Amino acid sequence: MPPSTSQDLDLAHRDTRRTVQLDDYTRFLDRERIERIYEKAEALQHLHVVHVNSTFYGGGVAELLDDLTLLMNNVGITTGWRVIQGAPDFFSITKKMHNALQGGSINLTDLKKKHYEDIVYKNAVRTHLDRHNMVVVHDPQPLPLIQHYHRNGPWIWQCHVDLSAPDRELWRYLQSFIEQYDAVVESLDAYKQSLDTPQRTITPAIDPFAIKNKELSEAEINERLAHYDIPRDQPLVVQISRFDRWKDPEGVIEAFKKAHEEVDATLVLLGNVATDDPEGKEVYESLLDEETERIRILSVEDTALVNALQRRAAVVLQKSLREGFGLTVTEAMWKGSAVIGGNVGGIRHQIEDGENGFLVDSIDEAAERIVELIRNPGLRETLGMKARTTVRERFLLPHMLEDYLDLFGGFETLYRLND
Ligand code: UDP
Repeated sequence: MPPSTSQDLDLAHRDTRRTVQLDDYTRFLDRERIERIYEKAEALQHLHVVHVNSTFYGGGVAELLDDLTLLMNNVGITTGWRVIQGAPDFFSITKKMHNALQGGSINLTDLKKKHYEDIVYKNAVRTHLDRHNMVVVHDPQPLPLIQHYHRNGPWIWQCHVDLSAPDRELWRYLQSFIEQYDAVVESLDAYKQSLDTPQRTITPAIDPFAIKNKELSEAEINERLAHYDIPRDQPLVVQISRFDRWKDPEGVIEAFKKAHEEVDATLVLLGNVATDDPEGKEVYESLLDEETERIRILSVEDTALVNALQRRAAVVLQKSLREGFGLTVTEAMWKGSAVIGGNVGGIRHQIEDGENGFLVDSIDEAAERIVELIRNPGLRETLGMKARTTVRERFLLPHMLEDYLDLFGGFETLYRLND
């Protein structure tokens, strides 16, 4: 049974507005699973959870928190979301850290460390987390916050980046903060590090009811594409990603050009720029010379367009060189699209090569798969149907919610949160 939620109790307009309810998922998931999640949540109604990250918009973490925090409230667990602030020079340092955690290099000077820690300290002064008995801090930007609070319950650090080969010097530095946490959460088992802190894996997931993922009619899709003058006369190849080198937009363009020598198609590269990612604008501008009638490069904020493109595409690419998880892959698979993904990180976890999509290791392989898929609509359909099943079985939001509830529940005895 759904518990009465904090929303039911506190919010005005409750008759006219509603957020997604766990019950809505009975359309896609067994009743048994839904009931089990309600039961787990019932035992945790006394929790006051807060998630902390560094951007309200742009990128997978903001996407996740937007949907997840609402669903947690819906099952009766009071859950908030705070976003730390910083000037561009702070985010320039943290983006360098992000890159180095994914295997790039960093010149980690004392000045950079001091600036990073100072800005996080200022955020701690004005972010009051003392009334929460479960704090979840996401990614490196707010990581050092933990030093500045008296804990009222467990603190969890959740890392969303691809940790297959982090820069060792940076990791050692961050480790001094990480090991102050009660648990570390990574997106894949493969990202586990050598740490004294217990590590858990929680796989990200999507909200199928969001504007980005809900069903769209053919007319609605056509309207969105027409709005941006996206040609509909030839099959669409799309990649939708933050403008970031790790997403390999140059490789996508090159692979498309090769494929285009053999098949007619239009490439749409749609991207956005997260507020905590100062490199995005530069990456976007560096691509603009490649624009032609058949290569469209768009930087617009339009989630319905994301949905329309992922649905209409003959091929969705996510040719990343590193990828923590890759919600864009999940989103496209949910829509039954044929996805070609870089054979890395979280993409590898979602796509089983040749079963529910294709994994590629090079530009040439990507080009070959684009040609194959454009020539073979039956193959696209078979892969797409299996892709949708994969997401239904493993990557819808209630799966992730249940993992969190298990994690939170595991702390009960340790912290005596019921007292
Ligand atoms: N996204 C979007 N508009 C864009 C590009 C990306 O809404 O122009 C969304 C995308 O649909 C996905 C998220 O941003 O939900 C990106 O998450 P992902 O895990 O793929 O990558 P990240 O940006 O976190 O590295």
